[in-house]
Amino acid sequence: MREHLKHPIFKIIARLADSEGLETYVIGGYVRDLLLRRPSKDIDVVTVGSGIELAQKVAEKIGPRTKVSVFKSYGTAMLKYDDMEVEFVGARKESYQRNSRNPIVEDGTLEDDQNRRDFTINALAISLNKETFGELVDPFNGLYDMQEKQIRTPLDPDVTFSDDPLRMMRAIRFATQLKFKIMDETLQAIKDNKDRIKIISKERIADELNKIMQSSKPSIGFKLLDKTGLLPLIFPELSKLKGREVVNNIGHKDNFFHTLEVLDRICPNTDDLWLRWSALLHDIAKPATKRFVKGQGWTFHSHNFLGAKMVPSIFKRMKLPLNEKMKFVQKMVDLHMRPIVLSEDIVSDSAVRRLLFDAGDDIDDLMTLCEADITSKNAEKVERYMKNFKVVRQKLKDLEERDRIRNFQPPVSGEEIMETFDLSPSRVVGDIKMAIKDAILDGIIRNDYEEAYEFMLKKAEELGLKPVK
Ligand code: ATP
Repeated sequence: MREHLKHPIFKIIARLADSEGLETYVIGGYVRDLLLRRPSKDIDVVTVGSGIELAQKVAEKIGPRTKVSVFKSYGTAMLKYDDMEVEFVGARKESYQRNSRNPIVEDGTLEDDQNRRDFTINALAISLNKETFGELVDPFNGLYDMQEKQIRTPLDPDVTFSDDPLRMMRAIRFATQLKFKIMDETLQAIKDNKDRIKIISKERIADELNKIMQSSKPSIGFKLLDKTGLLPLIFPELSKLKGREVVNNIGHKDNFFHTLEVLDRICPNTDDLWLRWSALLHDIAKPATKRFVKGQGWTFHSHNFLGAKMVPSIFKRMKLPLNEKMKFVQKMVDLHMRPIVLSEDIVSDSAVRRLLFDAGDDIDDLMTLCEADITSKNAEKVERYMKNFKVVRQKLKDLEERDRIRNFQPPVSGEEIMETFDLSPSRVVGDIKMAIKDAILDGIIRNDYEEAYEFMLKKAEELGLKPVK
């Protein structure tokens, strides 16, 4: 492992560890990622002694301006060196009580410290002391599990998950990020302990969900959440998308698996977490709007509208941000069918202008979502849609260049309308403004001041109004 510890920070820590007589290791995620060749900037260092003191000594050695952040209650200290963040902790032993995920902590040995780690692949340590520099300490065969691409707890999984139920989310998150398999016994223990998830804070669950969402194939995680029974506990709305109903021999697609397909399909085209959330939530109101209508089959009327309305309560409960990110997701859910409807018909300029007006700067994201939403098994149908989409995209481009609708500002303001006809704020002002907007979106006039002014005069005349000057 010696060749992996090239970064100069390891030499500095190693020298000080020796001179202070402290057994010291690099441990956990950094070692795992090193062996998986996933570049990582977070180094965890464990020492059999005081992590805080070692951090302070290392900082002195690096230079007087090196700042150490000390977290006394956790017994940890952090410093930055180059682009690396190094966290120091004293080796510890942990024991848990039933109602809290905060353990009782005592000083311990390296072995104690490895025993408290969640998975074998996260329990690997590499020695930094001179005599043993670069040697891997792997008491649970983590290296083997890494080669076999499997996730397993070092100790009895039942105890591991009951002690700290967040680990269930972490197991599923690692399985998704690394594309590893959760071993049978470990998976069974998650099923058995699923109800313990209730002692975990919503913020931590959201953190793990977001990491699943940011991986290259998030469906792996959601399928595991479903399989283990965690999904209805942490995300009941998503769980309700599951299943197919058949009436008079007519079925509808399973919206859970359709949603996951859309989510996976959008990932190669965007790293934006909130566009990915939009994909996850685009059909969230389908169960609530589902009807079987004779002669029509299954309908999900206004599921986009209701879905957009559900977003704030979902975000609030899950402790996701209630800001413009949420508003963006709402907008995407609300508009997600518009481009598809467009591509079914012959595309009129007016319909494309209206879409541009409603989506504004988010139009490209909306198109990305819609393209991911085309999941039909019928290759011919998919091809036809994709071709129509190209036409819609081209039209969007042409019309935007000509009419600048994307960030539409009405060329004639309400104030100007009031002044011209000596009106006080009233409905008729709004009507004239709306008529100008519609005329532009319908292509009757161009998005231009002169044309809009002329149109205003004409419209006002129809309403019996005369300009005062
Ligand atoms: P990532 O950086 O992708 O979140 P990581 O494994 O580095 O992955 P951290 O949360 O930084 O995650 O944890 C560092 C190490 O601490 C882990 O590798 C693991 O050994 C240990 N660890 C973290 N959380 C837990 C936990 N809940 N239970 C047991 N060990 C944990």
